[in-house]
Amino acid sequence: MRYLVLSDVHSNLEALEAVLKAAAAHKYDASVVLGDLVGYGADPNAVVERIRGLAPIAVIRGNHDKVATGLEDARDFTTVARTAARWTQQALTSETRDYLLALPAGPLLVGDTLEICHGSPFDEDLYIVEEHDALTAFSSTRRQICLFGHTHVALAARLHDGGDVLVEMPRGHPEIEVKIEAETKYMINPGSVGQPRDGDSRAAYAIVDTERQRAILYRVSYPIEAAQEKILAAGLPPMLAHRLGMGR
Ligand code: ZN
Repeated sequence: MRYLVLSDVHSNLEALEAVLKAAAAHKYDASVVLGDLVGYGADPNAVVERIRGLAPIAVIRGNHDKVATGLEDARDFTTVARTAARWTQQALTSETRDYLLALPAGPLLVGDTLEICHGSPFDEDLYIVEEHDALTAFSSTRRQICLFGHTHVALAARLHDGGDVLVEMPRGHPEIEVKIEAETKYMINPGSVGQPRDGDSRAAYAIVDTERQRAILYRVSYPIEAAQEKILAAGLPPMLAHRLGMGR
């Protein structure tokens, strides 16, 4: 199976369209979505509709999806994130809202090889940023490859047969190939489609190929200015437009 992996789209339709266009060339069999479909960007309804149109085999919720639907309050959010969440709450159609409300919490098992979660496999809101976080997370994974998001930073961690954790952050690369080897477990964050924070403003996604035993992390350029203009026109905090250009 060849899986398209999308995470943290965050209502950025321009980035999502660019990713889907580029990903079509990989002829993937199924897609999985790691949460945070909405929040920050100006197109929550169109993004959710586009994702639903893909008929992903697995979609989980993220923390922004929970707040946008009122499942959780915005207490832990920064002022900017809270303002965006309030805007999103009001912008959601009842259909989008119902869809987001019904999304399950991760982790979710996908086939024999994959598992998906938003933050970490034991806590959907936890951030995995470095070796130690990955090592803790490995102890609760139930599949060889665990896909996660939440940090908006592309990362591949591997744990070889109980040994050390090796973490790779493919900053500034157009693509990074991770070979899937026996006796090795993987935690892979494809990076964020709609709001990258690793200093690379291009949209991020991944393809996991379970037959060819590899995962490839890709970056693709998209019309950032169009997404920025929509954010400003919507009256969302200008900082949200600014950061898209910086990839921070
Ligand atoms: Zn996010």
